Amino acid sequence: MLSVPTNSVSGINAFMPPRRTLMGPGPSDVYPEVLAAQARPTIGHLDPLFVAMMDELKSLIQYAFQTNNEMTLAVSAPGSAGMETCFVNLVEPGEKVIVCRNGVFGERMRQNVERVGATAVVVDNEWGEPVSVSAVEAALNANPDAKFLAFVHAETSTGALSDAKSLCALAQQHDCISIVDAVTSLGGVELRVDEWGIDAIYSGSQKCLSCVPGISPVSFSAKAVEKIKSRKTPVQSWFLDQTLVMGYWGNKDTGAKRSYHHTAPVNALYALHESLRLLANEGLENAWKRHQDMHQILRDGLEQLGLTFVVDETCRLPQLNAVYIPEGVDDAAVRQQLLNTYNLEIGAGLGALAGKAWRIGLMGFGARRENVALCLRALDEVLN
Ligand SMILES: *Cc1c(COP(=O)(O)O)cnc(C)c1O
Repeated sequence: MLSVPTNSVSGINAFMPPRRTLMGPGPSDVYPEVLAAQARPTIGHLDPLFVAMMDELKSLIQYAFQTNNEMTLAVSAPGSAGMETCFVNLVEPGEKVIVCRNGVFGERMRQNVERVGATAVVVDNEWGEPVSVSAVEAALNANPDAKFLAFVHAETSTGALSDAKSLCALAQQHDCISIVDAVTSLGGVELRVDEWGIDAIYSGSQKCLSCVPGISPVSFSAKAVEKIKSRKTPVQSWFLDQTLVMGYWGNKDTGAKRSYHHTAPVNALYALHESLRLLANEGLENAWKRHQDMHQILRDGLEQLGLTFVVDETCRLPQLNAVYIPEGVDDAAVRQQLLNTYNLEIGAGLGALAGKAWRIGLMGFGARRENVALCLRALDEVLN
């Protein structure tokens, strides 16, 4: 018989993380109110009070996305699962998808398309550039059999913002369903799902929503729902199959009853409810402006330190500032010193920018003056 606890295991202390300032590509600093919400008592996930909270949560997600889409919910898994949810539900084997690739996350979209057994037509742009609207138009003209257009609104690997409004208008003209990654854009820059005609969209809890990681808000237009309902093949993922999940999220308008699908991450959904409530209280447009204002102060300070931006000013994300690492500076040593001396985390470069750039996040609760000031002072001291 195993004696429990063993000496070695019983000697382990409770984990006490330090208080960091998170200014990387995510997770971002979590609102204190959100952490407090998460610590409230766990109740049953079919408890009437929890079900009522989920109804509010759905309205809050609809507000954040600016949509009236009935099929709007939170996937019980991180942004990557939101991405996968869109592809596995919408795309069937043999179908053609135009995939825009201007960084790490566009490439992941392509991999999702291939794993579904569909064909990806890739529209490439340089890292740091936005998706080219004219290149997408040419690809749509050259591939009249394409059924989908997929792109990343805010490419977190480079800090480039793409023109989602024009891209989705093109998708509509070509009768394509648009699939949009809004993991980093939601809450940080203008995003209007219904007005722009976005068909399928997913985001994440831990970027500009400043919630704990691990939840992915998603929304599907009537056209996308129609496509899912007319599938000839079953969705190969049981867990992400939205026709099953919808039974769980229910529909208070049609009176559909909630039935068990999986156990919701109860406390994480309290956290999302609180973060979206805070966003709604601030007002979406105020939040967008705050990100832009903080970006401008940070930008001026970084430029004074002699740092230059990867992305052109015309398409730069306020919430993700990628700057080139100066010649002769040790990337890892600087980031380590920021972490050890200032409890400050900034992001390393990813993919083509690994070792070449830092990514400084100003996301959600992190987009405020004291963070900007700390980052500029710490970088100044470490670099000089
Ligand atoms: C962070 C991110 C993801 C993945 O989200 P996870 O929560 O890490 O799974 C997807 N797309 C973009 C653009 C992201 O920034």
